[in-house]
Amino acid sequence: MKLKIVQAGEPVLRQEARELTRDEIRSRATQELIEWMRQTMYDAPGVGLAAPQIGLGLQLAVIEDKPEYIRAVPPERVKEMRRQAVPFHVVVNPKIRLDDGAPVEFFEGCLSLTGLMAIVPRSARVQVDCLDHNGEPKHIDASGWHARILQHEIDHLQGGLYIDRMYIRSLMPVEQYNRHWKDKTISSVKSELGIA
Ligand code: ZN
Repeated sequence: MKLKIVQAGEPVLRQEARELTRDEIRSRATQELIEWMRQTMYDAPGVGLAAPQIGLGLQLAVIEDKPEYIRAVPPERVKEMRRQAVPFHVVVNPKIRLDDGAPVEFFEGCLSLTGLMAIVPRSARVQVDCLDHNGEPKHIDASGWHARILQHEIDHLQGGLYIDRMYIRSLMPVEQYNRHWKDKTISSVKSELGIA
């Protein structure tokens, strides 16, 4: 089943989601929900989807970065993004720790802010402690694009959106991004957009 993805302005996207118990995670209802979220993410398509985005205030997100998505991106950009395929996985009740070190900056978008993109500084590496799809404890040590996806999805579970962290002057429709900026380095985009 394909679920409806809600857009910014829906109150649920600005509320802190609640944790799930292990029994809830293992319930048939949650297992079905995970499968529907997976299908909805594929259909969008996106590399992550958090429960608040389908209107549910639960600390649950699904993530997958498929090889076929990465093949559609120019190799030099893939290298810059440090983007590698990430198998499907479920993140429940996460605690995230951001590594120190210089933030990395890239354009990102969100299925709940359709058609928009902006440059968002994020930590290059994160440690996440969470439960998996079976309610089992799991540790994720992620860097590169996977670290960015985790930060983006976990923000959703706390009522956050990338627009809270973006360079305001970099917000633009995808059409303008493709027309003017997609082949430029982030540092030259920032300079041309007047971002210090
Ligand atoms: Zn999002």
